[in-house]
Amino acid sequence: MTYILVINAGSSSIKYQLIDMDNEEVKAKGLVERIGIEGAQLTHTTTGKDKIIVKKAMADHGVAMQEVIKALTDEELGAVKSMDEIQAVGHRVLHGGEKFTQPSLVDENVLDGIREYIELGPLHNPANIKGIETCMALMPGIPNVAVFDTAFHQTMPDYAYLYGIPYDAYKDHKIRKYGFHGTSHRYITMQIEKKLGRKDLRIITCHLGNGSSLAAVKDGKCIDTTMGLTPLEGLIMGTRSGDIDPTAVTYIMKKYDMTAEEVVSFLNKKSGVLGISGVSSDFRDLEAAANEGNEKAQLALNMFIYRIKKYIGAFAAALGGVDVIAFAGGIGENDGYIRSECLKGLDFLNVSIDDEANKGRGELDITGADSKVKVLVIPTNEELMIARETKALAL
Ligand code: ADP
Repeated sequence: MTYILVINAGSSSIKYQLIDMDNEEVKAKGLVERIGIEGAQLTHTTTGKDKIIVKKAMADHGVAMQEVIKALTDEELGAVKSMDEIQAVGHRVLHGGEKFTQPSLVDENVLDGIREYIELGPLHNPANIKGIETCMALMPGIPNVAVFDTAFHQTMPDYAYLYGIPYDAYKDHKIRKYGFHGTSHRYITMQIEKKLGRKDLRIITCHLGNGSSLAAVKDGKCIDTTMGLTPLEGLIMGTRSGDIDPTAVTYIMKKYDMTAEEVVSFLNKKSGVLGISGVSSDFRDLEAAANEGNEKAQLALNMFIYRIKKYIGAFAAALGGVDVIAFAGGIGENDGYIRSECLKGLDFLNVSIDDEANKGRGELDITGADSKVKVLVIPTNEELMIARETKALAL
């Protein structure tokens, strides 16, 4: 067995999976929530065994990680006898700026690099660093690999990633488009290449979940994506506005008497389909409400769909045509209504889907009979991608 632990540390949470890379099977997974907040809880499941639930105060990521180790090595419900059985740890890291175009084996230099981008990923990068430091302290001698959400997008050409602002802002402060969900877009791309047995493809990958983004991928390389300097740009999301005129932002600040921090929080947490509908950020709730005649819920869905369709058109132009459109993420994988609506009226791109196939579950080929573009549903697996990258670098 070749055990790799995958860690996704958020500001107050740690999600983890233990994967046996000999067969790419999940041995155990879990979640610690509310770290440093009242009501902290760990939920752990070793495959085939009963859950472990631990409710106790966990002051920081270090304490939380100690609980994760306890659960993983629990004599009865754990997955390993000792942490020595784990060969490497892979960490999801949000922002790798321009420095990290590939996953990196962690050393002090890499940690310093991740620290450099705290300003651009203020909620995530500090948590990612804490996750890495905690593993280094609690699992000495075991290699750690950082896998960046931004790395896959580093192949974008300058004319795609630069904003139309004075060049000095880029030169002096690295203000540009970075893009996120890179691990997912890369995983989807690789699955498509494997499925179709070729790499010379023009692909639009649609990762639609709580956060959503599209990527335009040519011959395996990302040439454009919808997210920007931060994950706020692009599509309308669960609670994020996506693209908005910057002058609307300063106008909102004036009208609602908001500070810069307040308006960023307004655009990140109170906007998107939640803000439009006033119902929910969850698409199951939105569709239920729309079916009962809630017009704002329907409007929110229409806006979500329209923005995706617009970007599919834009990316088809950027790619000079499109061979594959693929859906992934909680919405992309489960919501046939959204998939079908996003692709309606794209006959001019020779895209159509098979309505029966679109009702299926899991990995699907939903290409319509007369469609020249392959339309696929590819369940994403960021943890597995991180584990593969970790294995490749550390073992
Ligand atoms: P994250 O971006 O946090 O990884 P996910 O990719 O898991 O999130 O997506 C979560 C979202 O997926 C939920 O908010 C919900 O809107 C949507 N979702 C999950 N299951 C379904 C479903 N059966 N039908 C429609 N939407 C769904």
